Amino acid sequence: MSGVREYAKKFKSTLMLAIAFSAVLGVLIVVHLIGVQVMADKEMREDMKTDVEIGASMISDRIYSLFVIADHAAAELGEIAEFPSPEMEVVLSNFRAHSEFEETYFLTVSGHMYRYTGQEIPVTSDQVADISKERFDQSSRLVTGKFNFGNSNILLSKPVINNGQKLGYFVGGFSFEQIVRHDIRKFMEVEGTFMVLDARGNVLEVEVTEETSEFENISNLINYCEGLQDSEAAVNELNALIGHTNTEYSTLSMGDKSYGFTCSGVDRSGGWSVACIVPKKNFLAALVHQRRGEAALLLFDIALLIVTMIAVSILSARKDHQLEAVAYSDTITSAKTKEFFRIAGEEFLRETEIPYAVVAADIVGFRYVNELFGHERGDEILTHFATLLGENLGSKEIVARNTGDYFELLVVDVDSFVKRIEDLSEDLNAYARSIDVTYPLVLRVGVVRSTKSNRDIRNLLDKANAARKTVQADSGILVAEYSAKIQEDLKSREEIESSMNSAMAHGEFKLFLQPKMDVRTGKLSGAEGLVRWIKRDGTMVYPDRFIPIFETNGFVEKLDFYMLERVCELQESLKKRGYERVPISVNQSRVLLMNPAYVSRVMEVMEKYEVERHLVELELTETSFFDDKNKMIEIMRELRSKNCVIDIDDFGSGYSSLNMIKDIPFDVLKIDREFFNTSSTDTGKIILQKIVELATALGVESICEGVENAEQEEILREIGCHYAQGYYYSKPIPAEEFVEKFMQKSPVEENE
Ligand code: C2E
Ligand code: CA
Ligand code: CA
Repeated sequence: MSGVREYAKKFKSTLMLAIAFSAVLGVLIVVHLIGVQVMADKEMREDMKTDVEIGASMISDRIYSLFVIADHAAAELGEIAEFPSPEMEVVLSNFRAHSEFEETYFLTVSGHMYRYTGQEIPVTSDQVADISKERFDQSSRLVTGKFNFGNSNILLSKPVINNGQKLGYFVGGFSFEQIVRHDIRKFMEVEGTFMVLDARGNVLEVEVTEETSEFENISNLINYCEGLQDSEAAVNELNALIGHTNTEYSTLSMGDKSYGFTCSGVDRSGGWSVACIVPKKNFLAALVHQRRGEAALLLFDIALLIVTMIAVSILSARKDHQLEAVAYSDTITSAKTKEFFRIAGEEFLRETEIPYAVVAADIVGFRYVNELFGHERGDEILTHFATLLGENLGSKEIVARNTGDYFELLVVDVDSFVKRIEDLSEDLNAYARSIDVTYPLVLRVGVVRSTKSNRDIRNLLDKANAARKTVQADSGILVAEYSAKIQEDLKSREEIESSMNSAMAHGEFKLFLQPKMDVRTGKLSGAEGLVRWIKRDGTMVYPDRFIPIFETNGFVEKLDFYMLERVCELQESLKKRGYERVPISVNQSRVLLMNPAYVSRVMEVMEKYEVERHLVELELTETSFFDDKNKMIEIMRELRSKNCVIDIDDFGSGYSSLNMIKDIPFDVLKIDREFFNTSSTDTGKIILQKIVELATALGVESICEGVENAEQEEILREIGCHYAQGYYYSKPIPAEEFVEKFMQKSPVEENE
């Protein structure tokens, strides 16, 4: 009896144990499957986002290069006197043959459209209206819609201007389909439906990378969207997502089906987006299915082993799975991807106490390399850059490519890394030259160290990136470390950008004037106009705080023209009030020269106030970017042919070169105060003297800036520099105060 009872007891406890095991097992399997679902969800979202971002930036690059070509084409067309004409055909044919444009046309202001063959193409008045709609700055514009000229379904239009007069439009047509297909096939990882949408949500192009059962009868997305039209909410949601510069993600549900939808704005396109739709079910099914199979197998194994295994697998599944899913390398450079970087970086930072540093690095103006030397060369350089960055990295250090030329690193020994940057930069340039890329590659590197309290990879990346952006291309410094100051600068930048427009509207930008003196006579010879931002509460902000910001966001164009107008207006009013007038110069940022309409806009303003050309001088700084040089020379020639006076500002600072002044046409050389300060020694004085002699030999005037005392003025007299500007004579003061203090009524007027 007791034997039986004991056996039953034993059985019961074994059974209980088995039930307990099964229950634990069941729970664990369910948890495991849910885990997989959640992970797959997240992964799908990340993968899709990466894809559309890459797609959007590739398309934006393509568009940009077409814009550049259109600028050149329009400039050449602007030189032609008659349309249509054989010259027009030559220019149009040339630009067709040497670019991605499949068709090139010229549209006259009276609405006649000519093909590169010279043949006139019939166009409707709606089409003419569409093409000749313009952006405010007369830059290139994409025109989409009901065109069917040859294979081109997208047109690009760019006004052709000569001497401020519009002659018509350069129109380039290209097959968007080919461009998009090519890029998307090559680079998209996710399998689903990609599309390019214009600002109104019209589908411009569709690409299905895999015909899944969901999409079998969806040859293009228009049909798919029609399917969506059953659900007004879904259509609204789609519309709300497109056209943003950020990447947007959303899940759409229709009946029992669920889709991931993501969308990213295409820069410079005027509101286009790249979007991607993937049926969630498909994406999840493979993963879930695979995991289910694993679970079933496990069931047949020894229960304890299973429990242990599942316990372990649940703990590590997250990490392993994610790592394995994204450990693929970047297709171009074989560095890791940014997804890998985030996951592995998080892991490293969490696991160890090592004080890490996160580094963000890129190459200034790298897109020019792609543009001027081709994408292939660009890729070779990026690959080499990745290799250089990766050399000597330890096992717990990572280099990854985010996008384009932007790399991220996690390093332990940041000091030695920073020391090596300069060598690395030299190696990279040597390599570039060895493959005939003559563009100077300047690195920008931002660094932030992890602290005990901050080991959050995303936050550290943001900070390293913010530090990177503070590196000035022409400062010669390559590395910036994140600091409280950078944080403050970011904040002040935001404040400035959010208030600049209203400041302009409220007239908070004021014209100040600083005298220029003739050291031979001690008399006033001119003035420089300098901007001051006087806020409504009376605080004054100096230009060094906001001009660099305006130069990066384009607002400087508005401001510089505003200042030019204020100076012209002042000259007009001084004339009316009978003052003896002197030339006043204005500062013109070199950003302005990028606009092909620059010269004609300057003429427009001067003519509006009827000022004599010699009374308004334009101060320009020479630029160190070689690809700008020819353009700059061209613009200066044009300005001078219209009798404008050009001052070369800040000569002797930064990258200025003697070489430059022999090529560029100008009237006045303004010698930088920095230079003047270091010339207190005898050698400095000799160099200064030689510069003045050189200017004289070239037949231009020279003026020294930053004269602060009588001794400095004496030096100028000795070396034969006739003009001076500086605090010794006066600080910049409000324009009206300047008139009172320094200007006189002309004797003729007084006699009257
Ligand atoms: P800049 O064109 O080199 O202007 C001369 C700067 O030197 C002015 O600073 C002036 O106040 C300062 N300065 C004049 N005499 C002396 C002196 O004896 N000693 C010293 N240490 N400094 C002297 P400001 O007005 O703060 O302007 C700084 C820079 O901001 C200008 O340098 C110019 O590059 C830019 N800027 C000013 N107004 C404008 C503008 O309307 N448009 C653009 N694009 N830039 C502007
Ligand atoms: Ca200046
Ligand atoms: Ca200057």
